[in-house]
Amino acid sequence: MKAEPAVQRQLLDLAKVDAELNRVAHRRRTLPELAEIEDVEKRLRERRDALIAVQTSASDLDREVSKQEREVESVRARADRDRKLMESGSVSAKQLSDLEHELETLARRQAALEDDQLELMERKEAVDADVQRTAAEVDKTERELDELRKRRDEALADLDTTRARREADRESLLPKLPENLVALYERVRAHKGIGAALLKARRCGACQLELDRSTIAEIKATADDEVVQCDNCGAVLVRTLESGL
Ligand SMILES: [Zn+2]
Repeated sequence: MKAEPAVQRQLLDLAKVDAELNRVAHRRRTLPELAEIEDVEKRLRERRDALIAVQTSASDLDREVSKQEREVESVRARADRDRKLMESGSVSAKQLSDLEHELETLARRQAALEDDQLELMERKEAVDADVQRTAAEVDKTERELDELRKRRDEALADLDTTRARREADRESLLPKLPENLVALYERVRAHKGIGAALLKARRCGACQLELDRSTIAEIKATADDEVVQCDNCGAVLVRTLESGL
């Protein structure tokens, strides 16, 4: 394949544009924000689960507190009723002694229930503090995630701008190059990642292999407008004064 040396050098401009497009694509995939977002999302899920768990404990305790209150209430009501009966004077001596006995039992029961209530209240306070602390952690993690997503989107927008510019460069370069040369370039690029490179100081700029003496002698003897490819990676080797020939 033949192409004027000046045209071959333009192939280097295309390779440079493509290398930058590759860097942009790589950068998009490996933005540090992506891994950080994954970590923070995981942490957020854990904290939301923890919040649901403590909220459930809090509502369980609320139910227990109400149940306890109802029980205290019913013991009180029963004691009131017993006292009223005793005061009414309409009960026998036997009933009176039974009622006195029951009132003592009810008083003990009420004292025990009130102790339980105190303990429940203390537990409820601790759980409420837990709910508040965990909710604050969820909020903080949500803000952290928002911030990271914003940073990721900004980075992606920058990369999109660069990509659009380089794609425009590519569009303006392509019509200047012969179709068969571009086809060769694209074929090699599809297989090896780099379609053309400078032959610099006897080294292939694509695979970095240093060419041996006989290959160099061969290339030296090849006409300037002949397209030369690297034996190792297939890249079009563009010759300039830097080539060491
Ligand atoms: Zn090579």
